[in-house]
Amino acid sequence: MKILIVDDCTASVSSMKEVLANAGYTTTIAVSHFEQAMAVLSASAETDASVDLVIIGVDMPGIGGIGAVLTIKSHRAYEDIPVIVVTEHNDEAILDQAFAAGASDYIVKPVSAIELRARVRSALQLRREMVKRLLRERELERLARKLERMSNLDSLTGLANRRCFDDTLVKEWVRNGRADAHLGLIMIDIDHFKHYNDALGHVDGDTCLRRVAEAIKGVVHRPGDMVARYGGEEFAVILPGTDYTGAMAVADNIHASVAQTSIEHPDSAVSCVVTVSIGVSSGIPTCGSTPEQLIQAADRALYEAKEAGRNRTRSTCLPGPEDLRQ
Ligand code: GH3
Ligand code: MG
Ligand code: MG
Repeated sequence: MKILIVDDCTASVSSMKEVLANAGYTTTIAVSHFEQAMAVLSASAETDASVDLVIIGVDMPGIGGIGAVLTIKSHRAYEDIPVIVVTEHNDEAILDQAFAAGASDYIVKPVSAIELRARVRSALQLRREMVKRLLRERELERLARKLERMSNLDSLTGLANRRCFDDTLVKEWVRNGRADAHLGLIMIDIDHFKHYNDALGHVDGDTCLRRVAEAIKGVVHRPGDMVARYGGEEFAVILPGTDYTGAMAVADNIHASVAQTSIEHPDSAVSCVVTVSIGVSSGIPTCGSTPEQLIQAADRALYEAKEAGRNRTRSTCLPGPEDLRQ
């Protein structure tokens, strides 16, 4: 482990270095000025071999030992490095200041070899535990981020999942309502997908779902737009700030993109390639209506598209407060 000694008293430094070397601590760097110490700390922090312990002489010129401890401990990158102060006198007021500044221990000069070894050993033990704790915390943060990503994503297609869709729709509902803007919703359902699975099996069925997901994603570009897997072979697109005409244009692009993907369908009454039916709805969220009504409207339109022969789009407007009162 790496030890940094900051002291302008050369005799004290060389005796400490010797004691430490005899105790097996061979990576010891000694500097006489605080600025040099900061340079060593900063250079070490950029590598994997960071400084594990700082030993500071309290009577250092310039900023002084207490000032040095305070500066090191208030630096985010160094706050977990233990600091031992070395003092000439057993002055309680100075020790009090050193501990308040963040020192974890002290040694009185002339430094006794036994005392130095013992203090260094326990400070390095503290450091090892801190490093372990930091690594554990970092790993936990990484796992928490991964879990959050996973809990919002559909594992088959990589699109937002139903949960994420539900949360986003409510958020956009409130946001667009506040801005008096239209919120568009598109529901998409693959035509005769059961036949596709029956003819080719579930593995090919899954591949088809991924390709359709890509085709939809490829034509939904605006920041704030969201493509989600709504259920088995159903997808949904949330289009903030998009009125009925805009949402219909996106639906046309989705049909074109799925057609261009040209996935052969061995058993569809509609076409020799995979097609989709689409239901579109859009409206300005008001206090009299709910996100569920927007979903119901798009669902109704999707049902009409199926009834009308599939591979097409139908639309239904979100009922306004007047319609709801009737
Ligand atoms: P329609 O044109 O009326 O929508 O007919 P359809 O066959 O697509 O609709 P239906 O609801 O009868 O069947 C949906 C099929 O989607 C049945 C189910 O096996 C399949 N499916 C749902 N989720 C998955 C999945 O994750 N993977 C695969 N391979 N198939 C799925
Ligand atoms: Mg379906
Ligand atoms: Mg279907």
